[in-house]
Amino acid sequence: MSADPQPGSLYPIVKLKRGREGRVKSGHPWIFAGDLHGPIAREAQGSPVEVHDDRGRFLAIAAAGSGGLALRILSRQLEPIDRAWIGRRLSEAIAIRRRFLSDAEAVRLINAESDGLPALVVDRYGPFLSIQSLSLAADRMLPDLVEELVSQVAPEGIYERSDVPIRALEGLEERTGVLWGEDPPDFLTIKEGRSRFLVDIKTGQKTGFFLDQRPNRQRLQTLCAGKRVLNAFCYSGGFSIPAAIGGAAEVVGVDVSASALDLARRNAELNGVGDRCRWVEANAFDHLRDLDRDRKRYDVVILDPPAFTKSKDSVPGAIRGYKEINLRALKILEPGGLLVSSSCSHHMDAELFLSVVSDAAADAGRTLRMIDYSGPGPDHPSLAAAPETRYLKCFWGIVR
Ligand code: SAH
Repeated sequence: MSADPQPGSLYPIVKLKRGREGRVKSGHPWIFAGDLHGPIAREAQGSPVEVHDDRGRFLAIAAAGSGGLALRILSRQLEPIDRAWIGRRLSEAIAIRRRFLSDAEAVRLINAESDGLPALVVDRYGPFLSIQSLSLAADRMLPDLVEELVSQVAPEGIYERSDVPIRALEGLEERTGVLWGEDPPDFLTIKEGRSRFLVDIKTGQKTGFFLDQRPNRQRLQTLCAGKRVLNAFCYSGGFSIPAAIGGAAEVVGVDVSASALDLARRNAELNGVGDRCRWVEANAFDHLRDLDRDRKRYDVVILDPPAFTKSKDSVPGAIRGYKEINLRALKILEPGGLLVSSSCSHHMDAELFLSVVSDAAADAGRTLRMIDYSGPGPDHPSLAAAPETRYLKCFWGIVR
């Protein structure tokens, strides 16, 4: 057996300032530039480095950023970050999905930091994989990751959806295209519970579908029999289809995107519920206000907007946005009606979002009973030590 590597022997060393090792030791995956003694050498950017404390003790191996986040922890052991290492991370992640979601056709296989592969997302849609890489270091891991995916998952094709503006922070272009194997069809069909959805891997939003809401969509299906349902920010009908399958009398979906609504319409037909679904192309803020003005009332209102804030600075504006749509939703709910209200903003933590929903209820003059406050499914694990990785909150409440 070869001797264990000595600290300092594997990768260039990056030293933390005195007293800055607390977050790393707590299990958090990020280290900020201000925690370091100096800037990271250009040659080291995008590659693994050894993180040492001020007294020269090894803490972790991290991927050095190239303009974005300074360091993202890769391993807390001194070990080479090679294809075998990537393969081990992947098999751990796959084992979790098999254990918790054995029958899912569409799952997130790799959820970035939370699965120990920072800045990398891999979603599986049946026989095709969709990958997103957000950093230079992640880009450099892609060839090995692709080989491991081919050997462990045996897909028909792997498609890259790195068309995310955040890559600019790392000096990277946005990129899409086939990484391996077959070109995916324009639309593939996935099954989620009793619903079937068309997924557009190449040009759909995110990597094609919002996999994180799976358990919430599935639960909604059991709560809509005979109800009038309004689904605001509906995308391709993720919540509308199970609501209709679950027996809703009428489901109105609202979205600003015409292409999302085209897909939603096709999804409704595919599931044989087109007759009970209606689709409205509108700004949901305006439409909710108009519904109230016209005295329209619903038994269930779903709100699933895009992240209103991508940075700490814009949190106050986001609070106003969430408050407004929740207020309007509460106003159009019948007594006993169900509000299903989500936020996927990293910067709105769970307590803050809850207080916004609660304030909206106070302004609407309605009592809101919280039934549950749920998160994403088990294919979107978060790190216990990093609240930032718990971005999706889903409030379930009944109004009086
Ligand atoms: N609930 C969906 C995902 C919603 S994603 C599912 O389960 O699949 C958020 C959606 O909000 C996107 O489709 C986007 O087009 C839409 N959107 C963004 N801003 C909007 C606005 N102001 N009004 C209406 N829809 C909006």
